[in-house]
Amino acid sequence: MAHPQIDVLIIGGGFSGTMVAVQLLRREGTLSLAVLDRSSQAGRGLAYRSPHRFHLLNVPAGNMGALPGDPEDFLHWAKRNYDASIQARSFLPRAVYGEYLGSVLDRTLAETGRGNFRWIQDEALSLRRRRGALTVQCEQGEGLVARAVVLATGNFPPNTPVIPGLRARSPLYVPFAWAPNTLENLPVDGSVLLLGSGLTSVDQAMELKSKAFRGVVHILSRRGLIPSRHERTSSWPLFWNEHSPRSTRGLLRLIRDEVDHAAERGVDWRSVVDALRPVTQQIWQSLAAEERRRFLRHARSYWDIHRHRLAPEIADIFHDMEADGQIRFHTGRITRYSEDRGLAEIVYRERGASTEKRLHAHRIINCTGSETDCRRIDDSLIVSLFAQGHARPDPLFLGLDVDSHGALIDSKGEPSRSLFTLGPTRKGSLWETTAVPEIRQQADELAEHLLRQLSRPSRGNDLLEPAV
Ligand SMILES: Cc1cc2nc3c(=O)[nH]c(=O)nc-3n(C[C@H](O)[C@H](O)[C@H](O)COP(=O)(O)OP(=O)(O)OC[C@H]3O[C@@H](n4cnc5c(N)ncnc54)[C@H](O)[C@@H]3O)c2cc1C
Repeated sequence: MAHPQIDVLIIGGGFSGTMVAVQLLRREGTLSLAVLDRSSQAGRGLAYRSPHRFHLLNVPAGNMGALPGDPEDFLHWAKRNYDASIQARSFLPRAVYGEYLGSVLDRTLAETGRGNFRWIQDEALSLRRRRGALTVQCEQGEGLVARAVVLATGNFPPNTPVIPGLRARSPLYVPFAWAPNTLENLPVDGSVLLLGSGLTSVDQAMELKSKAFRGVVHILSRRGLIPSRHERTSSWPLFWNEHSPRSTRGLLRLIRDEVDHAAERGVDWRSVVDALRPVTQQIWQSLAAEERRRFLRHARSYWDIHRHRLAPEIADIFHDMEADGQIRFHTGRITRYSEDRGLAEIVYRERGASTEKRLHAHRIINCTGSETDCRRIDDSLIVSLFAQGHARPDPLFLGLDVDSHGALIDSKGEPSRSLFTLGPTRKGSLWETTAVPEIRQQADELAEHLLRQLSRPSRGNDLLEPAV
């Protein structure tokens, strides 16, 4: 039988993984616990590692506390450690938030006396179950043996769109907007094409602006939808219950009616959208699979731009760039791509028209959002989980198939007792599972569940699962 060195191994040390570690430490100081992340810094992950001043949080400071039950913890920390004039409605740089998350882990370790905790900087390449224990093979050669593993791997890079002439290795093409040096050697008066018009594109436009880029930023997307801006809003009562419509069409009508109703009372639509936040997961779970599909086909992009909004300061800069002619929007579908002497030519068919238009750019950056279809995710760990039947995709290909605790469901349909996940990978079952207010709750519940699982008596040489 394999001898586990670790009770719980958490793969990924962004917000999700760091918060599971914090929640476990707060409950059980003697647990042997390790977080494995590519970075040495807790909590930064993909979301909070950007050093840029204009990469701001898109949730106000007053609701970004890392622990459920204390949403203002970040606000208080930021007043003490960053700027005493910060208010609950302020939108702070994401780097400040990353620093806060590191401090939450440090504070917890200090309070619990560190116990048996390790932060391991490495990359998990594969996971196998051997004689009841889970063995994770890392890039630098270490094999970690654990009783339970939590996958907190976050968002995966998007795939390269299928466009004739475009290759993932094309010299002017950047497949992943968050890769380092995406703007290196870009002529200061050149032109950039951002594929997609969501939050990632806005971030790229901010980075270009802060680097004093003077050229043109083309933004091309299928529908031309841009995230809305945050405004100060009053609260609006919850207007959904279990008797509300269980169809996409019925729900959209319900929301539109409520928005009209709010407008008659001088209340902004944002209050209506925000009123649904506490029950969004329940609404999603009340929909049959076909209705969920219908939502994804017809309503998803509209929901996203109303629900995930821009900090007002960012929206102002973005709209000024548009008014100055620096940002130019294009709506349509790319039909051809070619490169010649450092310049790309992009041909696209305009939405609703049969005519083709041309664009030229020195850099093309893929901002189309993370890949959620596990069959297409180019990640060695995920591939290994599928190859061994430890995981299967959720039916809508929005992430991993899981039970209500986040336990992975294997290829035979059995929920695991030792393999769990949280955060963006649970999108299929929860839909809203990518932002801090939802994930901090999941981390708390998962820690509780894991400790219950670990305290169950093992059967023979079987730690948590039957050996395979
Ligand atoms: C750019 C951006 C900005 C955002 N801004 C906000 C915001 O303002 N407010 C908000 O509420 N939400 C925001 N979000 C949503 C965000 O998804 C969540 O808030 C949260 O940060 C997700 O954390 P995570 O740990 O699940 O994922 P991530 O932050 O992606 O972290 C995952 C970590 O796992 C590591 N990892 C993955 N695979 C392996 C492996 N095989 N081996 C070792 N390490 C691995 C990665 O390197 C990474 O460090 C933002 C997301 C992004 C991408």
